[in-house]
Amino acid sequence: MKNYKIVIDKKESFLIDEEEIDPNTINFMPEYCGVCGSDYKTWLGENNLAIKNVIPGHEVVGTLIKGGFKTKKKAVIYPYFNDCGKCIACKNKLPNACLNSMTYGVQINGFMQTAMRVALPKIVEIKKITKKECTEKNLKQFVLTEPLGVALHALNKSGIKYGQTLLTIGDGAIGAMVQFAAVQKDLSVTNIIAKWFNKQCVITELSEQAKKIKSLFYTLSIPAHLLTNILLTTLKEEDVEVYNKDFYDVVIETTGSKAGMKDAVDCVRPGGTIVLIGGRKGIDSFDKGLVIKKEINMVGSRNCTLKEFKKALKMIRNNMEILASSQIIEDDDSIKMETFDIAFNEQRRTHSIKTVIKIKAEEKFNKFGMLD
Ligand SMILES: [Zn+2]
Ligand SMILES: [Zn+2]
Repeated sequence: MKNYKIVIDKKESFLIDEEEIDPNTINFMPEYCGVCGSDYKTWLGENNLAIKNVIPGHEVVGTLIKGGFKTKKKAVIYPYFNDCGKCIACKNKLPNACLNSMTYGVQINGFMQTAMRVALPKIVEIKKITKKECTEKNLKQFVLTEPLGVALHALNKSGIKYGQTLLTIGDGAIGAMVQFAAVQKDLSVTNIIAKWFNKQCVITELSEQAKKIKSLFYTLSIPAHLLTNILLTTLKEEDVEVYNKDFYDVVIETTGSKAGMKDAVDCVRPGGTIVLIGGRKGIDSFDKGLVIKKEINMVGSRNCTLKEFKKALKMIRNNMEILASSQIIEDDDSIKMETFDIAFNEQRRTHSIKTVIKIKAEEKFNKFGMLD
């Protein structure tokens, strides 16, 4: 059988490569793959960690293959190798901070290919999903497992407790998933407020993003007063600042931008916690004096544990239809492998929260029903 793969061959360029493979050697056929900021960075040639001619993609859902046969089983893949066991982080039981950590689509070829072998411990089966439930709309929601896992990890690291206030900065997939996760965590957070402040966006785009999240919250039956807060954040920036300053117990910063850092330090209450997910590289400038004055706790958060990933899968499984009816992944957001490069432009055009690549295999079965 043939394996078709997206290969980033040079800066802002890719090709669809093909290779002959033995169906007995594969165990997974990706079907949908989310496009992440890190894929974009690799495409731009700015991801120093990525291997040469890498196959991108680490957010995937697909079908399990056994002995050359396509099974009825669907699975997501935990995309990190973060347990070298030798480094100082691993020795201190902090696998997420593993110094030798590797991720599919970065240091190891990723999921934007039609047939592959994945490491067995990384396979997480979607249990009890019926054929009827496996519509395109439902199935592609599972690419959100990884970003939701990342969101859960950030919330866990924040130590947020029942009744505390949370501010999420950033209107991307992680921002949306932090909100979703906070709601799913048995509504233990009283104020879930997003601040859609992305300054590169014009104000109408800002509202579009907020509306999408809002529609998700409506379907989750979130109390009306929380929706009012979300609406409020699409007002003029000055109003937001006056309203939110020194207020939040926890701020989760997902943008990694200077403006995001400034807002985080401004908005967190004295003694509160800021969790940083976005922008791992580079030196940020923020008011250090204010961090000291307010005795702010600053916490770094990276990836997610396998346990959190499984929890995220469960959350998606339980809310599959709700997510499908939300606009986190829009109907026209699945783009073909051949148009991989459009993914980034498409994302800009539709302001979609998550763009998905539809991995389409040219499958051939012989008379025994085996992959040929
Ligand atoms: Zn991702
Ligand atoms: Zn390690």
